[in-house]
Amino acid sequence: MLNIVLFGPPGSGKGTQAEKIISKYNLIHLSTGDMLRAEITAGTKLGLEAKMLMDKGELVPDQIVIGMIENKLDSNKQAVGFVFDGFPRTVKQAEALDELLVKRNAPIKGVLRLYVSEEELTKRILSRGKTSGRADDQNEEIVKNRVVEYRTKTEPLAKYYETQGKLHQVVGEGSVDEISALLYKEIDKIKR
Ligand code: ADP
Repeated sequence: MLNIVLFGPPGSGKGTQAEKIISKYNLIHLSTGDMLRAEITAGTKLGLEAKMLMDKGELVPDQIVIGMIENKLDSNKQAVGFVFDGFPRTVKQAEALDELLVKRNAPIKGVLRLYVSEEELTKRILSRGKTSGRADDQNEEIVKNRVVEYRTKTEPLAKYYETQGKLHQVVGEGSVDEISALLYKEIDKIKR
């Protein structure tokens, strides 16, 4: 199985690149952000709980996202592989994912890290906010809080995956196609 983690701050282009990667390599896109927004749209209890945190730019509890990912792994047993986007976001989530995947004999093959400057991130998110309808994309304070959450809780994962020898770093600034070309090159190395 070709299991890949897309890793990078909010606004680094993970969702956009994930869509391109899944169609090129025939993989399944698992975005915890999208799953949570689907729960909100469906008006579930989980969605209501998640919305309160997401609207503040805070992470939702690990157990919630881990459970959602486990369900998706179970309902896609025939998959060629998965692209994890926005998950894992904490060391606890990363450990849980390793455990889930090892149990299924399909460990993570590689982690692609997108590098984007802080200035560019804020600019991209606020401009996405004009069309995405996402409350958390429209307010500079919330965006800042998401970046702080990323720096404190998510960035330590780089070390976690580097220790496992799985980290591949790519510059996430340039045109969408330029960046995907760089990512494909890394995926082709991972596949070998
Ligand atoms: P972005 O990458 O632009 O921040 P996402 O759609 O990935 O957008 O995430 C939006 C929000 O959903 C996050 O700010 C957080 O509140 C919540 N969220 C998404 N994925 C996770 C996760 N793995 N763990 C905790 N919270 C999450």
